[in-house]
Amino acid sequence: MTSYDYDLFVIGGGSGGVRSARVAASLGRKVAIAEEFRYGGTCVIRGCVPKKLYVYASQFSEHFEDARGFGWDVGEARFDWKRLVAAKDAEITRLEGLYRKGLDGAGATILNSRAELAGPNAIRLAATGETVTAERIVIATGGRPFALPEVEGHDLCISSNEAFDLPELPGSILIAGGGYIAVEFANIFHGLGVDVTLIYRGKEILSRFDHDLRRGLAAAMTRKGIRIVTEDVIASIASDEAGRRIVRTRRGEEIAVDQVMLAIGRVPNTEGLGLEAAGVKTDDKGAILVDAFSRTSAPGIYAIGDVTDRVQLTPVAIHEAMCFIETEYKGNPTSPDHDLIATAVFSQPEIGTVGMTEAQAGEAYPHVEVYRADFRPMKATLSGREERMIMKLLVNGADRKVVGVHILGHDAGEMAQLLGITLKAGCTKDDFDRTMAVHPTAAEELVTMYRPSYILRDGVKAEA
Ligand code: NDP
Repeated sequence: MTSYDYDLFVIGGGSGGVRSARVAASLGRKVAIAEEFRYGGTCVIRGCVPKKLYVYASQFSEHFEDARGFGWDVGEARFDWKRLVAAKDAEITRLEGLYRKGLDGAGATILNSRAELAGPNAIRLAATGETVTAERIVIATGGRPFALPEVEGHDLCISSNEAFDLPELPGSILIAGGGYIAVEFANIFHGLGVDVTLIYRGKEILSRFDHDLRRGLAAAMTRKGIRIVTEDVIASIASDEAGRRIVRTRRGEEIAVDQVMLAIGRVPNTEGLGLEAAGVKTDDKGAILVDAFSRTSAPGIYAIGDVTDRVQLTPVAIHEAMCFIETEYKGNPTSPDHDLIATAVFSQPEIGTVGMTEAQAGEAYPHVEVYRADFRPMKATLSGREERMIMKLLVNGADRKVVGVHILGHDAGEMAQLLGITLKAGCTKDDFDRTMAVHPTAAEELVTMYRPSYILRDGVKAEA
């Protein structure tokens, strides 16, 4: 018999926290979970889910334009921002309800309170001041947008948190950053009719992606009318009498916009959590340090998801939660597998990718075959839209294994999910070649690229 109040106490009601609490409770453990904001966490409340809904909303402007080429005349289209926000709110409230229902159904105690560690095995609930004890504690408090505290006027900026619920759709916006969030929101706002400028400190956006996708996406965004300012950063922000934001950049440009949004990464939510009191160590960014089984430096305390800053993705947090359950409650030690994670950027055009970039493959293997297709998607023939689709396979010449796949274009995210299975299974280029094409699709290109476009010898491009 345990002498603790709970077998498991979970701090944070996001993807990783809810999963670990629900499954542990369904296995008969006595579980409590505490959340200070809303159940569902970043993904459901102000991340992946509302973002994807806004992506859909923003795509209609192009759909209406494209319709003409297919024989349709569409009347004057008008967009109502407040109606979208309200519809999104209704949907995330429904999802939050499902999260709560799942926890409740499994028998977990749902607490609406901030929770902090009060020592080993002890948790203090801010709402009541009560302290409870637990045999195991999972910290799943996620992350929050990084601000630029050293920049004058940074408090005039919004982050993705506020972008979903702005009282009015801005006429113009400057978005800082060149990662997932900056690129996705630049396309969302552009599609909704906002004049968008992106400012990025590097030479080319999406630094962690394959160079063909980076260039292809930047070209597509520029073609649509999104201005991309590179190798520059915000130096200061002020507000004029009309409430407009006046941004000065380090290179001396002045940009006047209705809103400035920072999308320059996310930092772990570990402040004020009482980590020191419990002996939980963090790195210099505040991320909780964990071993291969998500165990922190304090016995009985675990950390999963964005708060550990391993890979900041919802499915990774859920996977880490399931590994924790296997290890601690099913007697089957399982460490999270962070290799070959397929991912999508919901830009327009979309990115879907899994495995190594061309540069990484060139460094890892002496002989790499690069199969590359760059074509006009079928829909664009009648719509007349100027757009390209890029597909790329990277093959290790020594064993023929496909080590990277990169797609830019419609449904790239959906394709990446399935390609993730093939790479995880260790499929070779010959397996791709043996696979019958599905016609007419864009994806058939992936199994019909018979000759390499070029090869890399010790990382250097050469004729195939
Ligand atoms: P990212 O890490 O993707 O990108 C951060 C961007 O900000 C980079 O371009 C980076 O530049 C730049 N940057 C960092 N610090 C500064 C600074 N001090 N000044 C100026 N620019 C700076 O973070 P996001 O905020 O876009 O997203 C956070 C995480 O959320 C992502 O890592 C991703 O894992 C997850 N996410 C996933 C999505 C999906 O799966 N579709 C969607 C949205 C978020 P540089 O490249 O030079 O370092």
